[in-house]
Amino acid sequence: MYSFFQKAILQWYFKTKRDLPWRTTTDPYSILVSEIMLQQTQVDRVIPKYLEFLKQFPNKETLAHSSPAEVLKYWKGLGFNKRALRLQEVCKTIVQKRNGVFPNTEKELLELKGIGSYTASAICSFSYNQDVVVLDTNIRRVFHRIFLGNKQEQNETLTKELKLLAEKILPHGQSRDWHNALMDLGATICTAQTPKCTQCPAQTFCSFTQIFEKASNEEKDKLLSLTRIKNKQGTFKDSNRYYRGRILDYLREHENVHLKILEKEFKKKYNKDINLILLDLEKDKLITLTPETISLPKN
Ligand code: SF4
Repeated sequence: MYSFFQKAILQWYFKTKRDLPWRTTTDPYSILVSEIMLQQTQVDRVIPKYLEFLKQFPNKETLAHSSPAEVLKYWKGLGFNKRALRLQEVCKTIVQKRNGVFPNTEKELLELKGIGSYTASAICSFSYNQDVVVLDTNIRRVFHRIFLGNKQEQNETLTKELKLLAEKILPHGQSRDWHNALMDLGATICTAQTPKCTQCPAQTFCSFTQIFEKASNEEKDKLLSLTRIKNKQGTFKDSNRYYRGRILDYLREHENVHLKILEKEFKKKYNKDINLILLDLEKDKLITLTPETISLPKN
């Protein structure tokens, strides 16, 4: 028996749900791929890359047995390239140490290096439909606004409070639909910048909307910032992350590049010394360096 709140959210979801390719499968490997890609990358950018990646690496075995260089080539355009190697490591561990059996509990998933608590919960919900709580940025914001209104808390206390609330409100046996619904709500209606309260299925239950509607424009900005997760990243252009991406892009196109040529290329194009960035990339196992050459890792 669902509460009015659960019913309102689920009915809205069944009418309006987004058509996303990882929602047409319950295969844990495909869900894992989508979840790792979606970390720090927008849905629109992930969709074509997800489809292309699964075409090339249709299962954990294919991915585990490919060279890191090949995996990195298919990760092009997604950024945060360490994720690609992390994903491959997880699949290697499952194939080599677990006889290819994909874990199906949060506890076992968390034992895999490279899977954090959010990803473990997402796999348990979206693949196995288990009654576990999934709290991503969107769901956190939606719950914060609906149940805590403009309440301010330390991050850790807030997470604990939201988790307890989320456990209480989770409709048993509907974890997959429920979390998809909340994610859609956060992505399309209760957005970080402009909540569309009049279109929201949760409006009658929401503590935030009552305060928000009466607030002045200045107060509205302050209220929105309370429920927004702070972005700690600086400007992307000209950051080390930017140059790491450009170096990897170059290596995707050129095999075994002479170090001097690459250094010259970056000096000319960006007026940038890349020695320290190369060492950093090597430390992260994203490139292989010899005294003279640089390439994507072959194994
Ligand atoms: S009513 Fe407004 S603030 Fe509340 S959950 Fe819906 S969109 Fe968000």
